[in-house]
Amino acid sequence: MRVVALAGGTGSAKLLRGLQAQGAELTVVANVGDNAWIYGVYVCPDVDIACYTLAGIADRTRGWGIRGDTFRMLDLMARAGTETWFKLGDRDLATCLARTQMLREGLTLTRATEAIAERLGTGCAVLPACDEPVQTVISTPGGELNLQEFWVREKGRPRALGVRYLGSARARPTARVREAVEKADIVVVCPANPVTSVGPSLAVPGFVRLLRSARRVVALSPMVGRSPFSGPAGKLMEATKAPPSSLGVAKLYSRFADAIVVSDRDAGLSQEIRGMGLACVTTDTMMSGPAGEARVAREVLAA
Ligand code: GDP
Repeated sequence: MRVVALAGGTGSAKLLRGLQAQGAELTVVANVGDNAWIYGVYVCPDVDIACYTLAGIADRTRGWGIRGDTFRMLDLMARAGTETWFKLGDRDLATCLARTQMLREGLTLTRATEAIAERLGTGCAVLPACDEPVQTVISTPGGELNLQEFWVREKGRPRALGVRYLGSARARPTARVREAVEKADIVVVCPANPVTSVGPSLAVPGFVRLLRSARRVVALSPMVGRSPFSGPAGKLMEATKAPPSSLGVAKLYSRFADAIVVSDRDAGLSQEIRGMGLACVTTDTMMSGPAGEARVAREVLAA
């Protein structure tokens, strides 16, 4: 089965592992909205967590970075007086350095990502959603912040007033992404923050149209009741006037999705979701450990 997985960070990594365990012929289309220049290198958190996860070297406990990584570079940078609130391990930095060098040599982000994925041994293609920079910018009472500044530096505390995707108007889905979606038997929207991990791709002109042309699109909700399993999804959905629940996720995705898998604790929302024209499957959507990841992946593929 050819599967394209739209992926964000930590929640998506769990489903990617589950899909990999099903033997799916996988292509990951990773969010680019969190990409940023930090410490002189181009950091692509969601692209990298997908690569590390599929290569079997991700730090599952932390949910980001490489297992067993060290932080000597950051320690020395802190001693040299640099602000080091963005945690980047030494081996993680090596990936970012390699990517930065390839970009400086003129490769697109797609080509650089494919090269890194292959060398790490992901066993499948990992693609950025687009090659042009698209940055999620959160408006707060103290000014605009990128996601790293909002969530890591400010610990998600500022009031979020709105969200925009800087640069999205100039971006386009890449030829590799188009080809993957056209050939896919199913496109899976992994559990990810709808605003910061899926929204940047949806803001790219032509991306929603591409998804609508897919054979089948199934999403796994990252919400239970009015809360996400982790992260600021609820707060940022509220900031964009979307109800912070699986209902809000279904509304956002109803433009292109055929079905959504939601928590059995949200079974009461099924009828309203079906009213939006989406099939709705309920199950235990929490993925704890490899067995849970595989079970949820099976249910998503069958939804
Ligand atoms: P974040 O909001 O910055 O953390 O961005 P991500 O796109 O990495 O979001 C991860 C999303 O995955 C969060 O919205 C979580 O609610 C969701 N998530 C994490 N673990 C699970 C899980 O076991 N099951 C489901 N369905 N969602 C999960």
